[in-house]
Parts: sequence; structure tokens; C-alpha cells
Amino acid sequence: MQEYLKYLSRSNWVEVDLDAVANNFNKLREMVGPEVKIMPAVKANAYGHGLLACCQVLEECGADVLSIGSVMDGIMLRKNGIQSPILIFAGNTVTEAAELYVQYDLMPTIMYYAHAESVSAAAEAAGKVQNVFVKVETGRGRLGINAEEAAEVILAISKLPNVKVAGVYTHLCDTKWRDEGNDYTIWQDARFSSMQKQIDAASVDIPFYQIANTAASIALSEVRHTGICPGRAIWGYSPLSSREEHPALHQALQAWKTRVILIKDTIGGKFGPNFKNVQLETPKRIGIIPCGLYDGVDHKQEKGCVLIRGKRVPVGSSMSLEHTILDLTDFPEVEVGDEVVVMGCQGEECISLKELSALWDRNLSEFLTGMNPHLPRVYFRGGKAVSIGYDNDIITL
Ligand SMILES: *Cc1c(COP(=O)(O)O)cnc(C)c1O
Repeated sequence: MQEYLKYLSRSNWVEVDLDAVANNFNKLREMVGPEVKIMPAVKANAYGHGLLACCQVLEECGADVLSIGSVMDGIMLRKNGIQSPILIFAGNTVTEAAELYVQYDLMPTIMYYAHAESVSAAAEAAGKVQNVFVKVETGRGRLGINAEEAAEVILAISKLPNVKVAGVYTHLCDTKWRDEGNDYTIWQDARFSSMQKQIDAASVDIPFYQIANTAASIALSEVRHTGICPGRAIWGYSPLSSREEHPALHQALQAWKTRVILIKDTIGGKFGPNFKNVQLETPKRIGIIPCGLYDGVDHKQEKGCVLIRGKRVPVGSSMSLEHTILDLTDFPEVEVGDEVVVMGCQGEECISLKELSALWDRNLSEFLTGMNPHLPRVYFRGGKAVSIGYDNDIITL
């Protein structure tokens, strides 16, 4: 038994390869060169991989900015020693939280002039100058100041005494390889670039202009501006078709595992709705795993299987909140304590993320962020488990 299993007494965890995260960042760094800033998108609990540990690795790799989804996450990161510049994405109030942005040096996303005024006032009260980012809308049809009006607002913000516009960004929505047709991205970029020209013409220097997500960072070098904001690539995924020029990314999410905690023979007879998939008129050998809907397993898993001792074992019932019943009738060799793989490989057999998310009818983002944040994340480096992340706590092994 691995020593760290003692911490996983509710035996249900996911395994994350932090070397893959570092590899992916470094591959992007090689691709864009030293002059282009990299701001990994670490929102949504680092796309489900666990915010704190991933930020620690990305800081170590030299990420220029970490971009996250909430002020609360930012405060947690600061309390745990993260020193990199942090951008808070646009889903947050600014005016009400102005003091917090200043206190913890979190860069707010500004979408109204009044946002910037409130941050400037809070920074002045604290005797500081606060860096901020401005979000511009170029075609996703969502957040930000429309590009045609943005230069005027940004120039006005840059005159406020206690804020500095450290960056301007937008979000693309439909980028493919260059030869697959990228008119929409080119149009979005043109709107952004003409705004940037107006700001340059006023001799206002903003260090970070950024529009490129994963797809654009890789497929269109001309839209990298002074920085990129890759999300999926950091975790080893890309929406682009695979080609030679695509950087070699490694999937950081290695496995979702649990263990058999109980095996028993049922006595047959009448049975309740929980057992709707198993014919229990005749006695059955069942095994219980502590892994259920609460953990983020989809109810469609009742038609799926798991791996035990390198074999596919069918799920024998509908799902409970915290447990699943396996049908072990044809697997007499299985014992209490055996490792169970929900996603990942065991022996020669694998249940890939692709296979499992297809069964559950979830896209990549839904799958990754559907894993309950409370599930312990066991982190690996150099093939060895080095720490366990549990919410915002990290146990070093
Ligand atoms: C999430 C996000 C990204 C990253 O997108 P990916 O396609 O995962 O690389 C980039 N920019 C913004 C504003 C985002 O919210």
C-alpha cells in the first residue's frame, strides 16, 4: 500500500501530474518566445485540477500573470504565498470589493469608468497605485467595453491618479488553423488592433495587450500581441486538430480512482429501486465503492464500468450520492481494498477521459469542472506522489 493512502480514508481521489502542467507551460513558452507574456487561465479551480497547487507550479515556471475567477480565490492564493500578479476575470463586482483588490493586490477587470474610479479611490486611501486590466468586447457578444468605444474610456482611466492600466484584453470565440478559415478571429483582432492604435497614438503605454486563448495562441502567431492567455493548453488539451506544428501537450489529469470498501453476497429476493440494473432474484456478489453523484459522477455511469485488477467491471446499480454498487458476480478474485479506476489506466486496460465523458454526455469543460472540488487531488512529480490537495489545504507527502 502506498503510504499516502492513509490520508484518503474516504477512498476517492483524482491524480494530477504537475510535471505535465509544467511541460505544457514550457512548451508554450518555447513556442511564443521570451518576449510574449503568458497569463495562464487558472479559473474554475484550475479547470478542476486544484487552484493552489497549479498556481504554485505555474509561478515556479515563470507565469507572468495568473488569471482567476474570483476575489475569494485571489485572497486564498495570497494567504498561501502566491506572489505573481493576479488578474480577476470579469465575473466579479469591482466597486464593492475595491478595498480588497487593493489590500491583496489583485488586478480587477474594469468594464466601466466608474469601476476604475472606485479602485483609484481605494488605492489612494491605502497610499498605493493599483494595477488594473480593462476588458474589451470584440465579437464574443459578452463581457467588456465595445472595442470602438474602449480607447476613449481607457485613456480616461489612465489619467486617474492611483490606478495604472497594466493590460487590456478580449476573448476570442472561433479560432481554427489558419488554412481552415479564420475570418471571424481576424475581424475580432482588427477591432482590437484599431483600438490599440488609438491608445498608442495618445502615447499611453500599456504593457499587456492580450486576445489569444489556447487555439489562437497556437494557430495564429500574429494575434499574440504582447501576451497570451491559454487555459486548456495548460492542462493538456487543444480544440485544434492535431498537426505537426502543434506543441506536444501532456494531459495533466491522469486518473480518477477509488477502492472497494465492502464485498458481500446478497440474499436475493425483493429489492428496492437502487438495484434496478441488477437482477437480484438470485444471489449476487456485489462490491461497494465510495464514489457517487456528490463526487461528480454522472448518473449515466450506471450503464458504465470501472477497472479492477485490469478488467472492466460493470456498475451494477443506479448511483447513490456517495456510493456506487458494482456487480462482482463474475469477478471472484476481487478483494476489499482493491484499487478501482473510474477514469485512467490499470494494467493493460484504460477508460479514457474521452470514453467516460462520451458516456456521461459531458464536454471537456463540464467533465473537468464536474469533479467535486472536495475530491482530494493527489499531485505527482517525477512519477511520485508529492502532495495531496484538499480544498485549499495542501498536505506535503
Ligand atoms: C478561459 C479564458 C481563456 C482561456 O481559454 P482556453 O480556450 O481554455 O484557452 C482565455 N481568455 C479568457 C478571457 C478566458 O476567460
